[in-house]
Amino acid sequence: MEQACTLSALTSLDQTDPDAVQALLQTCIESLFDPMLWEWALAITVACAVIGALIGKAKGRWLAGLLWGAALGPIGWLIVALSKSGFVECPDCGQPNAPSAKVCRHCGVDVRRASQRSERSRLKRDDWASRKRD
Ligand SMILES: [Zn+2]
Repeated sequence: MEQACTLSALTSLDQTDPDAVQALLQTCIESLFDPMLWEWALAITVACAVIGALIGKAKGRWLAGLLWGAALGPIGWLIVALSKSGFVECPDCGQPNAPSAKVCRHCGVDVRRASQRSERSRLKRDDWASRKRD
């Protein structure tokens, strides 16, 4: 008798009958090696990775989104959605830029040099303020 590999078939299985156990085991192994199952698993993984990449793209971290989505599916999407943005804020105009950006795409300022400069000017301002207090 051919039985489908289901949970109800497993729970109702007569374990004293070795032929029935063997037959169900065979059916379950066959369904595990069914290429249709693996095609579905692959399709779902790719879909989860693409959705994760799209969520990550909005945060400037598409690769992290792709990997989290492929590995954990909807949980990975949540991790990426709640993670810190990968965008670099322009120290001059405050607009977000891609993590790899050298120049602000909004105002054209050199983002790296501008961040150093603003750090220097902040230190200078703090130093000046503390001297004024003394
Ligand atoms: Zn800018």
